[in-house]
Amino acid sequence: MRDSHTESDHHPDRDRDRLLVPVVDDDGAPFWEYAAQGELRVQACAATGCGELRFPPRPCCPHCQSFESEWQRMSGKGRIWSYVMPHPPLLPAYAAQAPYNAVVVELADAPHIRLVGNVVAEPGAALDSVDPARLRIGAKVQAAFTKGAGASAGASGVTVPQWLLERS
Ligand SMILES: [Zn+2]
Repeated sequence: MRDSHTESDHHPDRDRDRLLVPVVDDDGAPFWEYAAQGELRVQACAATGCGELRFPPRPCCPHCQSFESEWQRMSGKGRIWSYVMPHPPLLPAYAAQAPYNAVVVELADAPHIRLVGNVVAEPGAALDSVDPARLRIGAKVQAAFTKGAGASAGASGVTVPQWLLERS
């Protein structure tokens, strides 16, 4: 039997207006916990003589098969490796901000690790806050974090790293 209380608490119309939030699993939970503290950290193998960084987070090192791991703090610096400009049809919350950028950022500290995100004008700004003409593959970016505000956080309060263009 379905719980009628749970059902009445569900507001599909309101959900439609929200940006998607990350699904936090056991392996990835530390990434989001550090992000909430304003730190960009990547999982690294903790086996002696290895230390290979890996992303997405997972239990075993693909390099040496060790299950020992730690979370290394990154500088937050990176470069735009690729980007797209999504246009409707999109989910309503995204259509309202389209066209906006979705970037793949290559980390300066670990060039083989690439994170998907958005370049914004300032922490917490809307997805469409940067003129697409300013985006270039190879452009330097810096990670930024805003808890519980704007485009970087959904109803769940998960802090999602965003990216700011570095002035050059
Ligand atoms: Zn390893």
